Amino acid sequence: MEVDICILGAGPGGATAALHLANAGQRCLLLDRAAFPRDKVCGDALSGKVINELRRIDQALPARFGAAPLQVPSWGIDFFAPNGRRLGIPFRPGFDKARDPAAGHIAKRIDFDNFLVEEVRRRPEIDFRENVDVARHEQLPDGRWRLSTADGKEVATAKLLLVANGAQSSFARQIAGHALEPDHHCAGLRAYYDGVTGLSPNNFIELHFIKDFLPGYLWVFPLPNGQANVGVGMLTKAVSAKKVNLRERLAEMLDTHPALKERFAGATRLGPVRGFGLPLGSKRRALSGAAYLLLGDAGSLIDPFSGEGISHAMVSGRHAADWAGRAVQAQDFSPSFLRQYDAAVYRRLGQELRLSRAMQRLLNFPTLFNFIANRAASNPTLAETLSSMFMDLDLRERLRQPSFYVKLLFGGKK
Ligand SMILES: Cc1cc2nc3c(=O)[nH]c(=O)nc-3n(C[C@H](O)[C@H](O)[C@H](O)COP(=O)(O)OP(=O)(O)OC[C@H]3O[C@@H](n4cnc5c(N)ncnc54)[C@H](O)[C@@H]3O)c2cc1C
Repeated sequence: MEVDICILGAGPGGATAALHLANAGQRCLLLDRAAFPRDKVCGDALSGKVINELRRIDQALPARFGAAPLQVPSWGIDFFAPNGRRLGIPFRPGFDKARDPAAGHIAKRIDFDNFLVEEVRRRPEIDFRENVDVARHEQLPDGRWRLSTADGKEVATAKLLLVANGAQSSFARQIAGHALEPDHHCAGLRAYYDGVTGLSPNNFIELHFIKDFLPGYLWVFPLPNGQANVGVGMLTKAVSAKKVNLRERLAEMLDTHPALKERFAGATRLGPVRGFGLPLGSKRRALSGAAYLLLGDAGSLIDPFSGEGISHAMVSGRHAADWAGRAVQAQDFSPSFLRQYDAAVYRRLGQELRLSRAMQRLLNFPTLFNFIANRAASNPTLAETLSSMFMDLDLRERLRQPSFYVKLLFGGKK
């Protein structure tokens, strides 16, 4: 099979790229080693940016997704500081569930990714093939990529390759030269539970910053049918330095932590605890080269503070479709032409990734966390500022300015 554009991986990054190409009337071949619906280890939290990206694919998609029983709307975040204090931060201060659309959603990835793949299946411009495990990528003298399976069976040749095959992408490691760097990589574990008590009536997601587990954190995210996604994440460098056994720590914290043990006493774990890596975007890396673009986790684009990677994969998928279309039109697959894709992605995500790197470092200072949590409980201005920070980048920028902390310390109560 000879094609102009081949996309490796039909997760949020690859599926989004294929759908935008289809919208532009551009055909592509989309390959995935799995058959959908397929599971993906994740926290399953979808930020407002995901909904924006759905809208960019098709105006009608957010409403179709919102009406599907596979998701729950979420109205905010409950932070649990190391001193145990809970700080509830709505995504929109003073939200009204009857009037405002929810800013976030939670849906199991087996369902969300399949929702996107169902869109893919509707589009005749996309030649989607499942159960195709591309293990070898060979660049021919004319620059095209020849793709084959591990047993040497040739799958396709393509003029341009969009690499969206996730955190364990061998292409990203071996050809693009992205090494796994423990300071820019997070280890994560996730399990599904039934019967966890005390979940928020407004589906606030819970982030627990537990004193002797920092800089790691534990999450509890409510799901449809009363289930919950429960997991832990910690910078890989810290896991090695502190010799942390994440599985043991997760079980121990659910059994013994005062904010959790009673809530999990009657809960049942559904299936195994599964682990997976998060390649973080805390270091800017090249996202393109001769006749290829890297998307999503294959390009290490996960937010280093929040762990959010679904929307970033979709943002990169949208820009990849744009630049792939332009490259085909110009018949120019050179590194210098494709570098414009890197610029487009980092124009959109670069500032956010830098700010999140700064916030990630705060995880090393539990007393600062405690201080902010204590202070926000009695200071509505600060609580509102924190809430808006999730929606407003300029506010996050304040975190980098010493004057913010001065106001925090000495600022009066409202
Ligand atoms: C524990 C954990 C918690 C997380 N929590 C969140 C969260 O709550 N919210 C959030 O936004 N992000 C979260 N993330 C990050 C998020 O899961 C990823 O950023 C996101 O899945 C990236 O999408 P992607 O399309 O780049 O890759 P993926 O979703 O990984 O998709 C890659 C696709 O490529 C296919 N593939 C792989 N190898 C091959 C091959 N050789 N040949 C063909 N196909 C192949 C796979 O089958 C898969 O379908 C979390 C990650 C982890 C590990």
